[in-house]
Amino acid sequence: MAQMNFLNEQKRLEALRSYSILDTDEEADYDDLTEIAAAICDSPIALISFVDKDRQWFKSHYGLDVHQTDRCHSFCSHAIQDPEKLMQVEDAQFDQRFQDNPLVTGSPDIRFYAGMPLLDKDGYALGSLCVIDQKPRVLTQIQQKALRTLAHQVIDKLSLRRNNRELYTINQQLTETNSKLREAEESLKKVNTALTESKERLQTILDLVVEGIVITDGEGNITYTNRRNREIFKIDEKKMLTLTNVSPEFNNRRLDGSPLPPEEHPVTMALNKGATTINNELLVSDQYLNSIYLRMNAVPIKDSQENITGAIGSFADITESYFLQEKLKEREMSLRAAISSADLGTWRMDLQTKEFFASARMKELFGFYEDEQISYEDVLGQIAESHRDKVIAVAEASLLQNESSELEYPIVRYHDKKLRWFCATFYAYKDPENPKIYFFAGTTADITERKLEEQRRSDFIGMVSHELRTPLTAIKAYTNLHQRIAEKNDDKMLVNTMGKVYTQVKRMEGMINGFLDVARLGEGKIQLNIARFDIASLFKIAEENSAVIINSHKVLFSPTDITLLDADKEKIEQVLINFINNAVKYSPSGTTIEVSCITVNGMAKVCVKDQGMGIPMADQPYIFERFFRVESEAMRGKKGFGIGLYICKEIIERHQGEIGVESSEGQGSEFWFSLPIFQN
Ligand code: ADP
Repeated sequence: MAQMNFLNEQKRLEALRSYSILDTDEEADYDDLTEIAAAICDSPIALISFVDKDRQWFKSHYGLDVHQTDRCHSFCSHAIQDPEKLMQVEDAQFDQRFQDNPLVTGSPDIRFYAGMPLLDKDGYALGSLCVIDQKPRVLTQIQQKALRTLAHQVIDKLSLRRNNRELYTINQQLTETNSKLREAEESLKKVNTALTESKERLQTILDLVVEGIVITDGEGNITYTNRRNREIFKIDEKKMLTLTNVSPEFNNRRLDGSPLPPEEHPVTMALNKGATTINNELLVSDQYLNSIYLRMNAVPIKDSQENITGAIGSFADITESYFLQEKLKEREMSLRAAISSADLGTWRMDLQTKEFFASARMKELFGFYEDEQISYEDVLGQIAESHRDKVIAVAEASLLQNESSELEYPIVRYHDKKLRWFCATFYAYKDPENPKIYFFAGTTADITERKLEEQRRSDFIGMVSHELRTPLTAIKAYTNLHQRIAEKNDDKMLVNTMGKVYTQVKRMEGMINGFLDVARLGEGKIQLNIARFDIASLFKIAEENSAVIINSHKVLFSPTDITLLDADKEKIEQVLINFINNAVKYSPSGTTIEVSCITVNGMAKVCVKDQGMGIPMADQPYIFERFFRVESEAMRGKKGFGIGLYICKEIIERHQGEIGVESSEGQGSEFWFSLPIFQN
């Protein structure tokens, strides 16, 4: 073993270096040993020598003032070749190996040398402890033993030193590791604090979101619940954390009310299949057994090995919107039913793509075949030229203002060229499924029959009224004649009777004129004779007339400044008289009727105010419509046809004026019209 290490010079040198002894300072411990060696062996020189690659270096050099010599001159490098043995050279002058050695031939004139190899515990001879003398001699047995012992001492010291160094290094490393550990601990603490903070922040955020959120472990046990979740179920956090996603407390059901099998629950699907489910709708119950519709999303939670360790479920309470949707569906169905029962044609156009969809009925109405592809323009093309521009303008306005509108117009059917009248509505709406899509849509109803009926009625009224007027003129003339004769004969009774006949004939004439007006309005035949006149003069005539005719009521005319109008005086008078006559007709005898005129924003506003029965709110929007009459207890016994106000409205609107009423039931009415004042 020693032989093998000895041969391995490289390893021996490595071993020597491992002690880190070369070129270190002198140390008293080692010097003590050389001093003892020199004393015991009675020699002037004692050395602790380490054999390096090219030199021998002395850790201690008693009696010799040299720190190192070349290895080639070294006695010790010979000594270590037999590491177990003490090497003695009695007289170097006679030893072949050393006789030419300058240390022998010159200073320090070595004659005697005894060296004990310094053999470490691994069997490496690192150098030797040697004694030197300038005279030839040998060591006694005791001296040899002592030198051997001292050599062991050197080795012990060396080992101790190396162990110490190693210990020191280990200690160093330990200290370093310790401080690193402390650092790691510090940063762990920081990470922990940050984690706690971010967890708290996350919980605050989760508590703020409008969706309910639960987190479960791999078995579906709820490990986290946000505020909204607890609100929805009205279950507190403590209890919630004892439940699973399929606990009976939730009463999970399908939308039709049947129990939801646990494996169909979105969270269970996430746990079992790793599936992400979106917009799953289910029915649950809160703690008080109220049913709640939920829309739920669920995602699995996976660890780094892709194992499912839990799931997150988020859900919204859609109970309200669910019912709303149901209502909408119902409404849509009733709308469809209404459309089909009213035989309406329907169409819609995607405003982005300009795609046009027309129902079969719509195509049929416009005279197209059912399988024919038609466009919006095709439909517009069939509208009678007289009305086309107006229809387009109304449709565009309705689209721009996002308001629905309605209008009537004639069309010429595409294939059979027949003329029909339609009533059409237009409206714009958002696609409920995709609010980014806007549609423009409409319905079309065939009102040809109604139009023809109206026309026939109007023709008939016109004709009848016209025919009635002729005999009435004759009756009026005869009445007049008889009245004059009676006056001449001083026949008071006949004068009186003829006066009554005349009043009735005038009434009848008024009615017939009204019917004629309606007929003419329908045909657009009413003519306006525009001329400048003063409202004050109009009031004067009306005041004189009512003073003669009306004795049941007090009619008060407010004084009026000169107010000039460019209008048909006769027609405006007709309107004023109509208002006054209605006031008389629909208010109790003895009450007052006030007639006034004020100026508002360049318009003359004429008002007729009575203290009569008033008009119910619900009827007011229709009061100016043709043939409309209020139906109420108070109206019983009040005769009329419901055309007076209609004619008034037509007359005023043809003058670019406005007409209206302020009234409430039982509180009297104030009818008014306003017309632009002539400005010079
Ligand atoms: P008519 O008086 O012939 O019925 P009108 O067109 O003049 O027709 O009036 C329509 C309806 O409006 C009347 O039937 C009545 O119900 C209501 N009306 C008109 N004027 C008044 C009024 N001053 N006070 C209460 N109701 C009125």
